[in-house]
Amino acid sequence: MTTTMSEKDITIVNNYINGEIIPPAGGDYLDVQDPSNSSVIGRVALSTSDDVDRAVRAAHAAFPSWSALTTKARAGIMLSFHSLVKSHAAELASLIVMENGKNMTEALADVAKGNETVEYACSLPQLMQGRIDAVSTDVTCRDRRDPLGVVVSIVPFNFPFMVPHWTLPIALVSGNTVVLKPSEKVPLTMYRVVKLFEMAGFPKGVINLVNGTKESVTSLIDHPLCRAVTFVGSSPIAKFVSDRCRALDKRCTALGGAKNHLIALPDCDVESTASDVVVSYAGCAGQRCMAASVLLLVDDGKGTDAQQKTLLRRVIEKASEIERGTEPGKMGPVIDGHSLNKIVGYIERSERWGAEILLDGRSWIGDDGGNWIGPTIILHHDRSDSAMNEEVFGPVLSVYRVGSWQEAIDIENSNPFGNAAAIYTTNGGHAEWFVKRVRASMLGINVGIPVPREPFSFGGLYGTKSKYGDMDITGDGAIEFFTNRIKITSKWPAPCVPEYVVGLAKKQ
Ligand code: NAD
Repeated sequence: MTTTMSEKDITIVNNYINGEIIPPAGGDYLDVQDPSNSSVIGRVALSTSDDVDRAVRAAHAAFPSWSALTTKARAGIMLSFHSLVKSHAAELASLIVMENGKNMTEALADVAKGNETVEYACSLPQLMQGRIDAVSTDVTCRDRRDPLGVVVSIVPFNFPFMVPHWTLPIALVSGNTVVLKPSEKVPLTMYRVVKLFEMAGFPKGVINLVNGTKESVTSLIDHPLCRAVTFVGSSPIAKFVSDRCRALDKRCTALGGAKNHLIALPDCDVESTASDVVVSYAGCAGQRCMAASVLLLVDDGKGTDAQQKTLLRRVIEKASEIERGTEPGKMGPVIDGHSLNKIVGYIERSERWGAEILLDGRSWIGDDGGNWIGPTIILHHDRSDSAMNEEVFGPVLSVYRVGSWQEAIDIENSNPFGNAAAIYTTNGGHAEWFVKRVRASMLGINVGIPVPREPFSFGGLYGTKSKYGDMDITGDGAIEFFTNRIKITSKWPAPCVPEYVVGLAKKQ
């Protein structure tokens, strides 16, 4: 059973180009649904290459005057935006709850975490300073950072505020102009946010929004005036975007999917590890690229079996306490019916492979039209089970017992994603042994969601399915990404000094 809002309450999400709200040239729209009940809450523009062309040209026209401002002046405008985000946090979080299905606490965190990158970007006047050094006799070399031009950002559904702000603040304060393509599943949040950018004083054309799906993405990448692309989303699309940019000689960073492992040693603290595991795998209904999806219980056969059984029991008990809902502390739905069916498919396949379903979230599936699935825990006996190896992107934890530290490392290191991993132990030496050997880009020690905060950059491991393209996103990696270093080498040899100055020096 699905409900639909009355037509007057449905938000029509158009494009935002050169400071104006503009309907898509082709007049086509897609329904946006509330994942908790599938009611239609919006209609989002499906943009064509004509809309994209208009947006990129607006960004290109705004670039000369925006990039001519001092970094300090641009940071000043971003600082006003930072305050506006804070004062509108509750409103933005309500939009996120409605279109994404997170609970209210998670939605507020989505906004707060995105605003941390805004805060970092306000320090760019200090962080972007050039260097100067004497490189030879009478010769100095200095550099400065110049912006690239029009940059494009393509983002996924799972963090409607935070992920766009992995790109926008640093790209803008470093002097670029931007065209953003939000996820068609959650377009309402950024449609509201562009108005906050306007209120903060960003000039027309500096930030533009084009909504849509594949056609808008390919048109943005292919546009001759687009200089660089940031992409965050699933691995196949990340690879597609990266390959297309490479063929056109465009700078690109493309973050893909994940399969993150938590490794619990027998000496871990049971209570805090159990809490962390549950928060990591079930928070945001498991729809986080940093979510834990595999728990490896290391049982070294030296009497540690009982301790690991207690840990597993506590994980199950804590996960069973989670209630369904979007109020703080509860767990929301997954994004859509396609995602729900995919998650159920993984659980069913695991059953057929002889796995034990220790906690079955399928009991949440109802007939209210919502995409509900509860926390699920699967104990695998076969390592090749697909739920253990592929990205499920839902509240499903795969548990697997291993007999040695090395087996845990082998399983983690053979996964094709290499995004994140965490080790649970009370022994610092054990932790160091693991972090030297684990092949993942973001590592946690007793931290289940090891997101590096600025100035550190965020991103998966190059050469795996978690990252394609050039660099990390956020932090100092983003400063490098959004600028070109211009190097100036100058020589002012002594003969250039007027004779009378040399004479004066000699007299003294
Ligand atoms: P998605 O790949 O389906 O969509 C991401 C973006 O690509 C959207 O804007 C979408 O409109 C566009 N897109 C979709 N299909 C396309 C196509 N065929 N051609 C061109 N563009 C296309 O991802 P999603 O479902 O929105 O998000 C979930 C995925 O994102 C998960 O795999 C998750 O791990 C990943 N993710 C990764 C990170 C990270 O930092 N590595 C962060 C958040 C999410």
